[in-house]
Amino acid sequence: MPEIFINGQAIEARDDQTVMEVAREHGHFIPYFCWHPQLSVVGNCRMCLVEVEGRGLDIACNMPVAKGMQVFTNSEEVQAHRKAILQFITLNHPVDCGICDKAGECTLQDYHYEYSGQRSLSHDEKVRSTKFYNLSNRILLDNERCILCLRCTRFTHEVSKSMALGVERRGDISNIRPVEDRPLSEDPYSDNIVDICPVGALLSRQFLHKSRVWFLQPTPSVCPGCARGCTVQIWHRKPEWKLKALDPRQNENIARVTPLDNPAVNGPWICNKGRDLAQMFERARADEPMLKGRPVAVPAALDEARRLIGAARHPVALVSNWGSNEELEAFKDKLGEVFHCFVKQDWQPQPGERIEDDLLIRGDKNPNTTRARELFGHAEPDFKDGTDLVLVWGEGFDFAGLPPRARIIFLNSYLQPENGHADVFLPVSIQTERHGHYTNFRGTVSAFEPCFEKKPGVLHAEDLIKALAAPARGHP
Ligand code: SF4
Ligand code: SF4
Repeated sequence: MPEIFINGQAIEARDDQTVMEVAREHGHFIPYFCWHPQLSVVGNCRMCLVEVEGRGLDIACNMPVAKGMQVFTNSEEVQAHRKAILQFITLNHPVDCGICDKAGECTLQDYHYEYSGQRSLSHDEKVRSTKFYNLSNRILLDNERCILCLRCTRFTHEVSKSMALGVERRGDISNIRPVEDRPLSEDPYSDNIVDICPVGALLSRQFLHKSRVWFLQPTPSVCPGCARGCTVQIWHRKPEWKLKALDPRQNENIARVTPLDNPAVNGPWICNKGRDLAQMFERARADEPMLKGRPVAVPAALDEARRLIGAARHPVALVSNWGSNEELEAFKDKLGEVFHCFVKQDWQPQPGERIEDDLLIRGDKNPNTTRARELFGHAEPDFKDGTDLVLVWGEGFDFAGLPPRARIIFLNSYLQPENGHADVFLPVSIQTERHGHYTNFRGTVSAFEPCFEKKPGVLHAEDLIKALAAPARGHP
């Protein structure tokens, strides 16, 4: 445990640490572009220069700690060199922050204001390069903005292992380019490079010119796309920046999804399916209860559902593995003795989707199979014993597999043909409209928060379950 000194503070470091790591752990911020805690060290941006007594300036990201080392992260010499580095990095960088999606989140913009603030000293024209290079069906590359930190290439080599990106040519005409025969479109983790690009060189097509980031707010959530349950941030309009839009849905849309760094589950990464949650959640919604396809008020639908439950001799429930821990526990507590319960797999792998790998993606494409099976067991749905009522909770079940004479209560969130075939249909809220927790395949519990209001005719499943178990009228 060598003792080192950073800005005069004595610190016990570990033998295998770099000055950058020790400084970050103890609250001494050192700026950087190319360094990333999950990638190898390349030391090419030179932004993390620090001064070491007796040694002069050197980069903190690649400097092992040594006993007695005296490090200064903000000396006059460090400050002067930072300014020089920023002059160099902005030499050919365009000042198009006004139209750049990264503005507001750009490390170069932040460092320029924090450490330099000077106009360019150069009188030469900036080197021009490709503005909208088509990297993949999801990502555009602006080579003029690229500062060649090589985070993106290292990500594809070291994390996603697609080896999809490299550098062509040398000097001030170097460009990030796709590697032949290794299409970035086939990398299911490709969009992480948009997050880790320190400038606006890598642009998400989904988000391109859609919104300024300061109009948006993030809500912590969990990706339901597989049993990993990656923690994410769902970005949507701040209330004070709601649009005066003819179509009010524009204010209830997911603008983008980014990872919420969580070492216990997904680290700083998610897969592209997690970015596409809008496609999952913004399908046409069901917002009216129905009796055999006829719209009714919530109390009438609940009364009929309770009557069917009371009259059934052999009721079976197919419980959703998209239910939250709280909803599943409420079902077990309130209706677990009434129904013979089985866990239903709401989602199956889709054609072309990566099934499983050793980074994040899991074969089970549902978020809460673990808690559902803990409560309701592993048996496959079975309709022996003259089943006369089936409660189907969630999508993904083929109604052709139901016993022909059984009555059906269906809880679902989306507009689907099966809704109208049920004796009682009850629309339920989706994850972006409620609080809850999921338990992932390793048993780690993660929380999600609401981003949007639910519609009046839509019920939270937990309230609905309690109302179905209530002996008399007890409408949620
Ligand atoms: S595109 Fe972004 S991440 Fe890749 S090298 Fe350029 S600046 Fe770095
Ligand atoms: S790995 Fe699974 S949980 Fe994580 S983002 Fe992808 S689909 Fe979602």
